[in-house]
Amino acid sequence: MSYIPKENRYEQMRYNYLGKNGLKVPAISLGLYRNFGDTDDFAAAKKMITTAFDLGITHFDLANNYGEPSGSAEINFGRILNEELSNYRDELLIATKAGYDMWPGPYGEWGSRKYMLSSLDQSLKRLKLDYVDIYYSHRYDPQTPLEETVGALDTAVRQGKALYVGVSNYPADVTRKVIKLFKELKTPFVSHQPNYSMFLRDAENELFNVLDEGGIGAIVFQPLYQGLLSTKYVQGIPNDSRVAKGVDSISAEQVTKERIEKVQKLKAIAAERNQSVAQMAIAWTLRHQVVASALIGASKTEQVIENVGALDNLSFTFEELQAIDNILGT
Ligand code: NDP
Repeated sequence: MSYIPKENRYEQMRYNYLGKNGLKVPAISLGLYRNFGDTDDFAAAKKMITTAFDLGITHFDLANNYGEPSGSAEINFGRILNEELSNYRDELLIATKAGYDMWPGPYGEWGSRKYMLSSLDQSLKRLKLDYVDIYYSHRYDPQTPLEETVGALDTAVRQGKALYVGVSNYPADVTRKVIKLFKELKTPFVSHQPNYSMFLRDAENELFNVLDEGGIGAIVFQPLYQGLLSTKYVQGIPNDSRVAKGVDSISAEQVTKERIEKVQKLKAIAAERNQSVAQMAIAWTLRHQVVASALIGASKTEQVIENVGALDNLSFTFEELQAIDNILGT
């Protein structure tokens, strides 16, 4: 172990309660969806994790399928934990999920009790942990009774393998039912992970209200729309960008002229706020009281540092919000 965390690591970060629960999350969390797999640079990955921790990021978000090949992000994160952070487990909030395709046959995806509980056991092995802090159902499975998926998450808590549970990508109406079911079971259901950014505002329609009423916090993912909400694509597609790397979830077609024009207009507002576009985009997602944390990704340590800088200006004037709405066309 060579890394010694900074003593002042809790000074800059802001911590928000996750809904009406006792659990606090950092306003900015780091996800390991990309850049932490076996095809990525392990030393760079380790540096991003330790830099994040030094900046007060206590929450790291994973899933069974993160990394290339699937599962490798959990393995690499487990290794970083063991090598550098083993003395700090109680200062860390580690989440994982199950829902997408992981292994062949009928029990390797979706929301059955069989899949959810065996996947958690596999994740714990890869992470080399006894428990995770939050265990999520990664996506709503319309073919499996909701009671079964909810029951499996409840069992994970009763087994001591998860402290809290959450759901991700669940529609608002299903989330309402989930809240009721967990209340009946008295399961510590604390979090919903929706996709939310200036370029994707669906969660504002109904979901945020459902979460607010239910006392559940939102940890919003892809606040930078995978990097498009920054100036990195303004002069074209850089070689070291996610789009250039040809990762399945974002392609050159999504770097539209319209989006780039919006980013250029947003840049003027961001500059007046002494922020980069990325910092303003992150701060903007945090303006809802139900949003407890913006879940960022990063390919470089500098991005983690820049993104945490969003905390220097989290408040928006009414005029700024209106100007942003006008640019976004909403
Ligand atoms: P982001 O919108 O945060 O995009 C991150 C990417 O944007 C980085 O990898 C980097 O890409 C670029 N970037 C980051 N900071 C900057 C910056 N300051 N300036 C310029 N470019 C920047 O979302 P992600 O897709 O990474 O997702 C974040 C996390 O959300 C995931 O790791 C995961 O934990 C969670 N998630 C959850 C899902 C779910 O279904 N529950 C689905 C997807 C994500 P580049 O490589 O181009 O440098």
